[in-house]
Amino acid sequence: MSEGVPLPYPARDRDTTPFWEAQDRHELCFQRCAQCGHVRYPVGPLCPECRSFDFEWSQSSGKGVIYSYTVVRHQTHPAFPAPYTVLLVELEEGPRLIAQLRAPEGAAFGVGTRVSIAWEDHPKQALPVFAIDGAAP
Ligand SMILES: [Zn+2]
Repeated sequence: MSEGVPLPYPARDRDTTPFWEAQDRHELCFQRCAQCGHVRYPVGPLCPECRSFDFEWSQSSGKGVIYSYTVVRHQTHPAFPAPYTVLLVELEEGPRLIAQLRAPEGAAFGVGTRVSIAWEDHPKQALPVFAIDGAAP
């Protein structure tokens, strides 16, 4: 992140506020359908599998594998100086989450590399990043 440049923060609404509040506690939580058990992500008012409105929050392990990634080399926002790596991580619970990679310069990684969630505190919102398992970020 670039110092002094305001970050674009996610907008909270009735459905997503508990999700963002959990992230402020460094917890990644998903909605688990109370009828069919489907893990719902992104957060929404009803289950895309069975249309139930009933759910409970469940905490993710934060562990998964890189499903895909890209290295951003062209800066598109002043708060995010390039280059940086954006991952699409398939979490153990099933959902895929997009977040930046934090890894030492030259660290080896690719599709299938095991990663774990880490948290970065920002003035208005803690946000997830991923670190390569076994490598210091
Ligand atoms: Zn369901």
